Amino acid sequence: MLARSFGPTGVKLPVIGQGTWNMERDSARSAVRALVRGIELGMTHIDTAEMYGGGEVERLVGEALRGRRERVFVASKVLPQNASRKGTLRACEQSLARLGIEQLDLYLLHWPGSHPLEDTFAAFEELRAAGKIRFWGVSNFDDVELDAAVHIAGRGKIACNQVLYHLGQRAIEHRVLPTCEKHGIALVGYSPFGSGDFPSGRSRAGKVLSDIARARDATPHQIALAFLVRRAPLFTIPKSSSSKHVEDNAGGAELELDESDIAALEAAFPRGSSARGVPIL
Ligand code: NAP
Repeated sequence: MLARSFGPTGVKLPVIGQGTWNMERDSARSAVRALVRGIELGMTHIDTAEMYGGGEVERLVGEALRGRRERVFVASKVLPQNASRKGTLRACEQSLARLGIEQLDLYLLHWPGSHPLEDTFAAFEELRAAGKIRFWGVSNFDDVELDAAVHIAGRGKIACNQVLYHLGQRAIEHRVLPTCEKHGIALVGYSPFGSGDFPSGRSRAGKVLSDIARARDATPHQIALAFLVRRAPLFTIPKSSSSKHVEDNAGGAELELDESDIAALEAAFPRGSSARGVPIL
């Protein structure tokens, strides 16, 4: 599995990890089996959140981690309404308990909220000093919010910004990606398949994707993933509760698209608006 440096952490992470949103809606057995299959295939960055299934998904992830904790880079997120200084400490303890682990590898503020960032970041640093988390970062921050966050935290503190990024939603390429690059922050793209709204081979753009997939003996999902991690500092975290889909997704990391593939995909799936802000689901 292709791996690259994850922001300022000094850790190399697989470019394709595993998401877990809405996993509580799937068969628990299939979901855990799929996560384990993903770990076996090297998709060892697992992304979850206290919000997912009201904590139920962290418990599922905990099951997948049993006996494999050391091989996995576990990320969770605190909800903005809990992200006061004390609230963040409490939320982290609760996530650790549900996951059944002693330390999170990564802890993110799920999106900007009303608690001062100074308080949330102070809590993150306190958790780090106490060994409860290794690294921390943010999610759904636009370029201006990210600049402000770096101003508060100092350079080298924020590991990543997790934002919406798929073929049909490339707006982060205008401002957010360059801002991550400027600060040496990893960009973790979420919902790489548009949360299931994946381009159909019947659409004009979907046909471009299918044609590239056919020419490369790959699947359209693999081509999409390869595009989304085509260069540093990009990472992606597809969600799947199907072992077959997980195997398909892992294959995306083996593909290297050439310039003509990338140009064809860029033309078929234009970048969209360059207005300020981050798109959200
Ligand atoms: P996604 O990964 O874009 O798409 C998931 C959908 O694609 C599921 O229906 C899944 O079905 C299907 N799928 C997966 N692999 C497939 C394959 N190879 N072939 C065909 N279908 C496939 O959706 P997402 O869950 O919205 O995003 C991924 C992760 O990003 C989330 O799970 C979460 O961890 C994170 N996220 C973060 C935020 C945030 O605010 N920070 C927001 C949204 C998401 P099966 O399960 O049946 O395979």
